[in-house]
Amino acid sequence: MKIHCLQTGDVQIKSRHQLARYETRPARVVDVLRDKDWSPRLPIGCWLIEHPEGLILVDTGESSHANDPGYQPWWHPFMQKCERRWVKPEEEVNSRIQAVGFNPRDVRWVIMTHMHGDHAGGIGHFPDSEIILSQKEAHDALAWSGPAQGFLNMHYPKWLKPTTTTHDDGPFESFDRSMAVTKDGAVRIVPTPGHTLGHQSVVVDAGTHYVLIAGDASYQESYMLEGRIDGVAVDSRLHHDSTRRMRELCKRKPTITQFAHDFDSAKRLEEQIFTLPRE
Ligand SMILES: [Zn+2]
Repeated sequence: MKIHCLQTGDVQIKSRHQLARYETRPARVVDVLRDKDWSPRLPIGCWLIEHPEGLILVDTGESSHANDPGYQPWWHPFMQKCERRWVKPEEEVNSRIQAVGFNPRDVRWVIMTHMHGDHAGGIGHFPDSEIILSQKEAHDALAWSGPAQGFLNMHYPKWLKPTTTTHDDGPFESFDRSMAVTKDGAVRIVPTPGHTLGHQSVVVDAGTHYVLIAGDASYQESYMLEGRIDGVAVDSRLHHDSTRRMRELCKRKPTITQFAHDFDSAKRLEEQIFTLPRE
């Protein structure tokens, strides 16, 4: 089962957004808004899984329209002042899927880790796919208050009617709940709340090892291993609980971890480099 790590351009965020100095949320967010330093240009990742039951896409990356006037809410200080984006039309997810030899129309399932703009920006390319969101993420992202939380629901396609899940197919490894996506159980969704309250991750069982596709449950492998938090995560306690479960998964079976804004995700996948918790 081949997995492709696709890059839909770059994003730059404030350095204290990438890695927070404080634990409690108001302090973290104020720190980001005041921060004058920028992170490096980070990749915006998403993933295509070639499964015998059908193609599975995890996240849809950013839109090439993300810098168009009016795309980001004018009244939102965060989107206006604290993020910079570089996405060319040929870097959007549909082109990336074509570049690895597939037709975007053939994607059977689109699993969304969460609905932030740089993950949901390409969702409009998949009108024929089943789009799977956690019930909590669908509730929060589709609410009138969504844009204030970074969910740009004014850009979601009119046809969007996601399948929602509360992960009711039983526990899986270190996770209390899971949803089996494929009949063979090799592709599962597990809840990893914290960054958003409805964040979820995907575990692919490749036989000898797992591939954990974790979106923004952590921004990079080292932060996950160290249990460090980003500047905008909604719930610190849940975030730490999710990264603890991810570390525990890595201990139970060799695991390749994937994060959307980690420079080394593609390399770890290609070279089969496992993530090794220290404790
Ligand atoms: Zn995010």
